[in-house]
Amino acid sequence: MLKLSGLNVFYGPIQALHGISLEVQAGEIAAIIGANGAGKTTTLRAISGLIRSREESIYFEGKSIDGMAAEKIVGLGIAHVPQGRRIFPGLTVAENLNLATASWRKRGMSIDGDLARVYELFPVLKQREKQLGWSLSGGEQQMLAVGRGIMARPKLLLLDEPSLGLAPKVVEELFETIKQINREDGTTILVVEQNAFMALSIADHGYVLEMGEVVLRGSASELMTNDLVKSAYLGE
Ligand code: ATP
Repeated sequence: MLKLSGLNVFYGPIQALHGISLEVQAGEIAAIIGANGAGKTTTLRAISGLIRSREESIYFEGKSIDGMAAEKIVGLGIAHVPQGRRIFPGLTVAENLNLATASWRKRGMSIDGDLARVYELFPVLKQREKQLGWSLSGGEQQMLAVGRGIMARPKLLLLDEPSLGLAPKVVEELFETIKQINREDGTTILVVEQNAFMALSIADHGYVLEMGEVVLRGSASELMTNDLVKSAYLGE
């Protein structure tokens, strides 16, 4: 579904990504793990068109999407749930969710089914439907951000560090729901995480990023038992 082939990204004169190559197969969960500053966020921002790649290197369903406007990329079926959630604090839960659906409503399509699905996956959001974004807990805000991503009906959902700042119990529940979205809705997922254990425990395949380069790749179970991954990322 997604292929990066030698992706180079620069911030001014500084090269943040050095020839990243990876593939995400339709229907799977892929994980990119790596430390702070490894280039995980930059990779996702390049895929969703928020930052430009230098040359043609990003392919979605076989077609190059380099240089395409971010809103066009959303229209192709790629939704990005950014690091830090970026929900709108002054809007209600329902308003935050509706924001992602402008293009469906413009075409006269109903969003009731999408909303019902988000509330089924995250029942607490239904209870908080009329509450303002700022009044939610960190975990609820992350659920809202993922819910907003789902409202865009993505084929590919990009998740940037969904575990950040959340208590372990909340992280476990959230990752269980991410797995459920993949399994039940058939949504392909690319998740980037510093929490390597959680990401690899739900993923089919994984990539280890260091200093803007892929240094290891393999099935999630292979990476879980790899000595470098165990010592550097799993704290063993
Ligand atoms: P984190 O877990 O902190 O989000 P990351 O793996 O997502 O880390 P990136 O945020 O992609 O890493 O950063 C990759 C490199 O690019 C880092 O060296 C970072 O300092 C640099 N970088 C990121 N954003 C910018 C920017 N706007 N301008 C200049 N350099 C940047």
